[in-house]
Amino acid sequence: MDFKSFIRDVADFPKEGIVFKDITPLLKDPSVLNKAADTLSSFLEGKQVDKVIGVDSRGFIFAPMLASKLGAGFVPVRKKGKLPYHTKSASYDLEYGTDTLEIHVDAIKKGEKVLIHDDVLATGGTAAAVCELVQSLGGEIIQCNFLIHLAFLNGEDKLGDVPVRALMTY
Ligand code: AMP
Repeated sequence: MDFKSFIRDVADFPKEGIVFKDITPLLKDPSVLNKAADTLSSFLEGKQVDKVIGVDSRGFIFAPMLASKLGAGFVPVRKKGKLPYHTKSASYDLEYGTDTLEIHVDAIKKGEKVLIHDDVLATGGTAAAVCELVQSLGGEIIQCNFLIHLAFLNGEDKLGDVPVRALMTY
């Protein structure tokens, strides 16, 4: 399936110079939505997954669907201050300043096999911070998967040996 034809480029959003990859045309088409979820979960064929992490906020769209398909639980990683219970946090650099992501301390048990999912891999700072959180809880990262990989930004270089898969590469 030509998933790219369901991605809308929005220039200068959320700020000048950024070409935002809008996934809402893909989400609103029932058969493309279903095919996208099936294809993302097929990247884990034959692999055991205990927890699927969705990254705040567009990672929350597919991560629970993937968890359901893979027989795994869903774990949210959220921006600072949004999770109610005790958390671990990891900070990462943005173009200007830093941002912080958090996970509940009891979200992952030592040795559990974890899939990390987000909509877009850009510079890799976000995904690297999520990897740090999972590893700090003793989880084993099986794969990071994305709808879209902006390969020209070399984000996978920040993810070490973690396997990276994506539905679409630009
Ligand atoms: P990064 O940390 O640079 O890899 O950025 C990844 C995060 O920023 C993801 O959670 C994406 O939702 C968002 N993001 C970065 N670049 C884009 C883009 N061009 N279009 C849509 N979302 C983006």
